[in-house]
Amino acid sequence: MTEEQRTIANNISRIRERITESALRAGRSAENIALIAITKYADLAQTRLVALAGLKNLGESRPQVLWEKSSALKDDAIRWHLVGHLQRNKVAKTIMSARLIHSVDSIRLLEAIETESNKVNKITDILLEINISGDEDKHGFSPECLKETIEITSNLKHIRVHGFMAMASREGGRKKAQSDFAAVRELRDKLSENLPKNITLNELSLGMSGDLEEAILEGATMIRIGRALFENV
Ligand SMILES: *Cc1c(COP(=O)(O)O)cnc(C)c1O
Repeated sequence: MTEEQRTIANNISRIRERITESALRAGRSAENIALIAITKYADLAQTRLVALAGLKNLGESRPQVLWEKSSALKDDAIRWHLVGHLQRNKVAKTIMSARLIHSVDSIRLLEAIETESNKVNKITDILLEINISGDEDKHGFSPECLKETIEITSNLKHIRVHGFMAMASREGGRKKAQSDFAAVRELRDKLSENLPKNITLNELSLGMSGDLEEAILEGATMIRIGRALFENV
């Protein structure tokens, strides 16, 4: 084992401990919380080490990087997640390489995903990104327009919605993060009745290196971890 591999392995165990501890506090099973390794800080070789260390859910924030890494890493067990903004001219390629798109943030993007998925006769799995903090530099649907978005999506037969993704406010620390995540969970609970066939809201992609505990307490089923994974690498 190289020094780099040892550091990554140590980081992973520390993250796993944090997950286990928070799950325990929340009265949840850690098995129901998927760790998505965000590899945007890592080059290809380091990304490969993360997969070799056993993390098979990998995420990128830039579509082109996701395409490049997914075609370079020939590991069929890897599932790629797009967590950053997707432009419509990148949809066709992205739906072929991403297993789940967390960052669907507009009706126009939903329609582009429908069109491209229809062309290749596939169903694309997505999350709807919610701008829960209202921070202006963040993407995502505002909470008020989610009901209408769900109605529109019910007619898009090549899209399956599995839940919501959100990021905590930039300001306000962990306490504010927890209330942001709670607001996402409450929205989910409120909107969960009478959903159309192609929509379930079981997945909540919440929480990053600095606030994964709060996310797990509020019901995250996926956490997206970058910095904590590559610390000291
Ligand atoms: C970078 C990024 C993460 C990971 O954040 P860290 O603080 O590095 O753990 C999670 N989600 C999104 C959308 C990101 O862009």
